[in-house]
Amino acid sequence: MCGIVGYIGGKDALPILIEGLKHLEYRGYDSAGVAILGETLSVVKTQGRIADLEKKLKGKTFKGSVGIGHTRWATHGAPNDKNAHPHYSESKNIVVVHNGIIENYLELKKMLIKEGHTFRSETDTEVIAYLIESFYEGDLLKAVSKAVNMLEGSFALGVMSKDEKNRFVAVRKDSPLVVGIGKGENFIASDIPAVLPYTKDVIILENGDIAEVKRDGVNLFDLKLNPIKRNVQKITWSVDDAKKGGFKHFMLKEIFEEPHVIREAMRGRVNGDEIEIPELESDILKGINRVYFVACGTAYHAGVVGKYLAEKFLKIPAEAEVASEFRYRDPLVDKNTLLFVISQSGETADTLAALRLGKKKGAKTIGIVNVVGSSVSRETDRVVYINAGPEIAVASTKAYVAQVEVIALTILYLAKLLNKLSPEEEKRFANEFKLLPEKAEEILKQSDRIAEFAYTTKNIEETFYIGRNLDYALSLEGALKLKEISYVHAEGYPAGELKHGPLALVTPKSLIIAIDTYAPLREKTLSNIKEVKARGGKVLAIASEGYEKIKEVADKVFFVPQTLNELSPVISVIPLQLIAYYIAESRGLDIDKPRNLAKSVTVE
Ligand code: GLU
Repeated sequence: MCGIVGYIGGKDALPILIEGLKHLEYRGYDSAGVAILGETLSVVKTQGRIADLEKKLKGKTFKGSVGIGHTRWATHGAPNDKNAHPHYSESKNIVVVHNGIIENYLELKKMLIKEGHTFRSETDTEVIAYLIESFYEGDLLKAVSKAVNMLEGSFALGVMSKDEKNRFVAVRKDSPLVVGIGKGENFIASDIPAVLPYTKDVIILENGDIAEVKRDGVNLFDLKLNPIKRNVQKITWSVDDAKKGGFKHFMLKEIFEEPHVIREAMRGRVNGDEIEIPELESDILKGINRVYFVACGTAYHAGVVGKYLAEKFLKIPAEAEVASEFRYRDPLVDKNTLLFVISQSGETADTLAALRLGKKKGAKTIGIVNVVGSSVSRETDRVVYINAGPEIAVASTKAYVAQVEVIALTILYLAKLLNKLSPEEEKRFANEFKLLPEKAEEILKQSDRIAEFAYTTKNIEETFYIGRNLDYALSLEGALKLKEISYVHAEGYPAGELKHGPLALVTPKSLIIAIDTYAPLREKTLSNIKEVKARGGKVLAIASEGYEKIKEVADKVFFVPQTLNELSPVISVIPLQLIAYYIAESRGLDIDKPRNLAKSVTVE
């Protein structure tokens, strides 16, 4: 995820682009750049935030009333000056800013290198500039349409040609892009806040739309360059509301981004009937006889999912452990240990220390990380990015979803390398992964019902989340979410353990949230729900569609679409996140910044 902007009009483009990028910084902030077209074409870019770009621009004048800009959240290649956007072809005729992931960039890169191009960055984006250049015969619009037909993946693009001073071109597929309609000037941006200071009239582009943006108008086309029409909408939100996409909090916005995040996390990893993690090779498994997942907080709960999946598919003993314990207890780790290190920020102090300890003892290490170029990503032998985009709310939601998904993909791929996953099983999983974004959408459609339930439950003082197997892993995460943002005491427990202690606490004032999606054990969990009911506790169940029987036992049920048992956590966590959110919201709490907590915990 990152932010792109574009301007053409009668004013100097630079200040407008910078102002626009500042409004998009929440979408990414590891590097930034602009290209300005006037008498000449200038490109300025840098690692860091927009403020760093401003520093670099200080004292220089760039005259030009056409321009494009970018604030980056890296997915391919570390955040540094050369990977920052805009990217341009060798002749500098074509300049591009890009938000998204080009799945087939390696293939295209090979082809373009054969044709004699020399690449200057490690990004997937650079291929786009060369590809457009290779089709360019004096008409930017035509060249863009030909090039994008060769791209697989997600993209929102702003493209300029040095030889065309009266227009630029924008196109979108699976990454957002809007066109701002002004008077004698027009804009593009990844999101509405960037254009709101200048105009309230906006066209929201749809997948496959190409826009030719001129000073006096905007023409829209489909990918074959047939003219199309889209409605102009009047925006009534303030800039701040718009940054949250109209949601009251970033946390809710991030939960609603999950279908998109699920899709992005599997890009280039689920291809047809196959699962592949191009970052990993079979040497990482050589001699491995033990697997550890180390992490903190929510990432640790993703690790618990990893433990269950690793034992099941790799048939190797696996453990999940919180990093602050692991690092101080001389764990049995040696060169035959595979250590998964999970961290959204890649900077969590305890997790980094656990990683360093593991490496000292000779372990092979794989990072599951969101922030490209972070410490964990630099220090692990291999890193598999989750590509979730920046997460602003302190309580992690979309990063957990992407962590669990990427861990599942990684374990399945490693099982395949070990010949422990048959082609039929691989196909079954590959096809189910592709359905997950829609299934996540289905769950989000229930958010009003979940909110209604949460509002009636807001005075609750004590909750237990219970489940078995992967549902147990989910119960840990559900309880943590509630604790973090609503300050209600919550505990995640294995459903079978309840009677060994906590059942003594169950009274008519207790709420038990039973997660019952793991089909092989659902009858067992159902019996545990009955035990709770017999003590007068209230039960909310999260169950898979079709398991109607649970309605007779639980007080309330939210159904999630059926999926393969092993993939359930990716989507079944969504109702748990929504319950926590709405309970906190009904209590009027500061959801995005809960008391005493910080986003990236860089202290021990
Ligand atoms: N994939 C591109 C890069 O890494 C764009 C990043 C994004 O949209 O997040 O530079």
